[in-house]
Parts: sequence; C-alpha cells; structure tokens
Amino acid sequence: MKRGLVIALDGPSGVGKTTVSRLLAERLNLKYINTGAMYRALALAADEAGVNVADEEALEGFCKTVDLGFDDASGNIIIDRKDYSKDIRTQRAGTLASVSSAKRPVRELLVKFQRTLGERGGVVMEGRDIGTVVFPDADMKFFLDASHEVRAQRRHLEIEGKAKDTKEAVSAEIQERDKRDSERKNSPLKKADDAVYIDTGGLTIEEVVQKALDEVEKAGFIKEGK
Ligand code: C5P
Repeated sequence: MKRGLVIALDGPSGVGKTTVSRLLAERLNLKYINTGAMYRALALAADEAGVNVADEEALEGFCKTVDLGFDDASGNIIIDRKDYSKDIRTQRAGTLASVSSAKRPVRELLVKFQRTLGERGGVVMEGRDIGTVVFPDADMKFFLDASHEVRAQRRHLEIEGKAKDTKEAVSAEIQERDKRDSERKNSPLKKADDAVYIDTGGLTIEEVVQKALDEVEKAGFIKEGK
C-alpha cells in the first residue's frame, strides 16, 4: 500500500516550528506530530522516576520498562499512562530533554516510536532529526532557521507571563541547548541535504506557512491535501 504524505520539519528552538507545522498540517488535512514534546515528556518522566538524565545506563534501564502511548485526539504522548503535556513547556523540561535526548537509549526508543506513528503517512512531523534520521525518505523536508537574537526574542515573548525568566536567561538557555543539540554524537541537529531552507527571521508565521505550501504545491503534492 502506498504511504500517505510525510512532511518533515526541522530546526533549532524558537524558529516557529510548532506554529508553522500545526498550520501546515491543518491546511493539508494531515496529522501533526510534535517530537520535541516527546523528548520533553520522557525526560520529565525519567526525572520523576529518580533517573539521572545524564546517566546513559540509568536511562537505558528506564527506557526498557517504559510504556509509550499516543493520544490521537490531542496528539500527546502518554508515558506509563500519564499525560505530561501540561508540564513540558518550562525551561527546566527543555534542558532535561536536551540532555537526555543526546543519549542513545532515548533516541532509539523515540525514533522507533515516531516511525511507527508515521508509517502510514498523512503526517507533518516536527523536530530536529526528522528529515535526517526518522524519515530520511520523507516526501517533503523543511529546515526552518533564524538568527539567535530573533529566536531568543520569540521564545521570551512565548513564555512571558508563564515564567519569570529574563530575556538574558532565555537567550543563554537557547544558546546552550542549540550547542548541545548540534554537537551531540547521536542525531545532531542539521539540515538534510534535500530540505528546503527557510529563514523565518523577517517573515510572519503566515508568510512562512505560505512559502511551505508553495513548495508542497510545486512538488505536486497539494492534491493529497484539501
Ligand atoms: O522542540 P523542542 O524545543 O520542544 O525540543 C526539546 C528538546 O528535545 C530539544 O532541545 C532537543 O534536545 C530534543 N529533540 C531532539 N530531537 C527531536 C526533537 C527534539 O533531540 N526530534
């Protein structure tokens, strides 16, 4: 059976991946899957279980016993029957995720899970390694990027009111996380050779979505959506 459309959307923190992927999925009538949320939730679950997320061996044991589910209605990952989605949008969860996601057992577990979720296609999947590792044969790949200043500013606005972090703290956290995500041995953040590069810096969300839709249309895939 022919697989449905798979759109991979990667890039560093604060480039607008989540909003763009969600809108793209909506416009094309595809399922939206946020893999960053999975790394965040798994890191919180491990931390809650008393596992040191920097300890590969401890994580290996944790990953062997953990039960993963996916709630189709909300698009949330369920770990040992618990939905962590309300707790994952903190700086702490981002840092825990970035540390644990560099570890092999975590990547093996979640990449396998993500491939299963997307195997029949009909998805827009966002993350860091979707076009390079999870679905190297994706029908369309996008790599969203922006300068560090733009991303730090956006992230700060996003969490304003929810957290007391200063702009400087947000900027430092993004820098540290990007460095870790790009320099790690396992699936580092990098643009796939065949990904369409979009600098979201001077663009509105709607302009980025339109650019992506134009590319999907140019590639002849738009008929599969609405
Ligand atoms: O996208 P988000 O900022 O929510 O991701 C949190 C962290 O999860 C990232 O900093 C990265 O370390 C990790 N991640 C990853 N691979 C993905 C998605 C996220 O390693 N596909």
